[in-house]
Amino acid sequence: MSAHEQKLLDLKALDCVHCGLCLQSCPTYKLTGNEASSPRGRIYLMRAFAEKRMEITAETIGEVDACLVCRACETVCPSGVQYGEMMELTRDLVEKSGARSGFAWRVKRWFFRGVLPHPSRVRWLALGLRFFRESGLRWLAQKLGLIELFGAKMALRDALMPAIPPLAERVEPPLVTPARGEPRGAAGFLVGCVAHELLPGANRAAISVLAENGFEVRCPSSRPCCGALPAHFGDLEAARALAKQTIAAFEADQEPVVVSSAGCGSAMKEYGRLLEHEPAWAERAQRFAARVVDWNEFLAAKGLAARPGRLEVRVAYSEPCHLAHAQRISAAPKQLLAAIPGVTLVPFAGQDSCCGAAGLYSVTEPEKSRALLTQKMDQVGAAKPDVIVTANPGCHLQLKSGAAEALPGTEVLHVAELLERSYRARS
Ligand code: SF4
Ligand code: SF4
Repeated sequence: MSAHEQKLLDLKALDCVHCGLCLQSCPTYKLTGNEASSPRGRIYLMRAFAEKRMEITAETIGEVDACLVCRACETVCPSGVQYGEMMELTRDLVEKSGARSGFAWRVKRWFFRGVLPHPSRVRWLALGLRFFRESGLRWLAQKLGLIELFGAKMALRDALMPAIPPLAERVEPPLVTPARGEPRGAAGFLVGCVAHELLPGANRAAISVLAENGFEVRCPSSRPCCGALPAHFGDLEAARALAKQTIAAFEADQEPVVVSSAGCGSAMKEYGRLLEHEPAWAERAQRFAARVVDWNEFLAAKGLAARPGRLEVRVAYSEPCHLAHAQRISAAPKQLLAAIPGVTLVPFAGQDSCCGAAGLYSVTEPEKSRALLTQKMDQVGAAKPDVIVTANPGCHLQLKSGAAEALPGTEVLHVAELLERSYRARS
């Protein structure tokens, strides 16, 4: 038995008691009504793989792929089952089993290993996608029915393709942004890979609000990718390589490392576990992980030194799974939003349930991703917000695409963007 399989079984022993309390919190169970699509069903499957009672094949891994790894099941589990880690290890087993080998798997591997470690390649890829979207090529492909030729799934993927801002908007943030007002310390800041190309405004706002509140913000020149995406999809080798680059990039300083993307922050807080079997890195990873702090968590704990200006808006906060469930941070973003005079926070059903973004879920499982987004739009739409706010790039893009279709005129912003807007609104 490999160390991985043993770890999986040890975690299993921590223990699912099959109570079923997690079922109604699981988005894929609620969509399908199948026990196999529930956390409990998947735990049976993961045990069967680790104990070699079931062979890992293209046919048996469907429910491993269909899991969002949203970790809503962890939040409600009375036994403390570490579901996220179990799924990460299981996906790694699947990756090594040879059950995947097709074209899609090769593309994914190339993206994780050949693109993500190089910011310039991420940029070229974003440029290529923007050219496809904006040059008329996409329109032509849609008109000629070429996208449907690749199947209904491809049409759904196409519909969820995010808009990519022009190159002029994707300006690198300064390596050091000085604090404004009374200095309160310094913070490292993760610029990220894909987020920087697709949502540069959210990064700019996160840095600006930190500076406005008295923090000098330092961004490493190497602009590392944290490895959350490959870890999520079971390419732990690629995730470990990226984690090491990230640790090294921030090691020159000792200040907190502030992360405005919930998925990245969640992965970085778990580096100690990711690198625990590498003697040269285990301690460094643990030390680094202890410095990682979510942007909302950081500001809510420090308190806003700069007074926000008035904004008369109804705001629906859609909780990212990797903030609410993986990092268990729910109050901090709402606290920051509530500090803006004039903001009315409107609650809605399903506020903390997955919007279907889940890393690359809209690419790998487009039908389920679409169904979850439709559900989210119905729920958030009932609250009639002017702005939908979130705190994770994947959710941000997914909600943007949903709002453009179902709630035209409703903006989608990062918490930091609304706060920055409130600072600009001061007279
Ligand atoms: S994962 Fe937790 S909540 Fe779900 S069945 Fe097992 S023990 Fe119960
Ligand atoms: S991680 Fe989310 S989708 Fe996966 S089993 Fe748990 S609740 Fe369901």
